[in-house]
Amino acid sequence: MSHHLTAVQKAWLSTELEQRERHLRGQLEAHLHGQSRVDRAHEVLHQDEDDAAQRRPERAVAAALTDREQAELEAVTQAIERLRSDRYGVCRTCGVDIPFDRLKVQPWATQCVPCAS
Ligand SMILES: [Zn+2]
Repeated sequence: MSHHLTAVQKAWLSTELEQRERHLRGQLEAHLHGQSRVDRAHEVLHQDEDDAAQRRPERAVAAALTDREQAELEAVTQAIERLRSDRYGVCRTCGVDIPFDRLKVQPWATQCVPCAS
């Protein structure tokens, strides 16, 4: 349980996190759809060729982006849950209050600066 954040600070962080969540969901969807569009285009263009080698790099890029976004989305979703259940803003390693200045930059942070570095 953490009480070092004011109601105004928590409201601000909550808005930040929700905006980030929406943004990431949108990006994730765009990449997932973009990937299937690229595959379909290649199938039409190279129906009689073995284009597996050509397709792989694009697919890897899309998959890497998606993985990163998914991991970030998970971190953001968990931060929103912590904020709602009042377990937010405490370092999971040493238990100190994470300063608002750090949360402002990275609202989904789960560790204080010394523990994270
Ligand atoms: Zn710590």
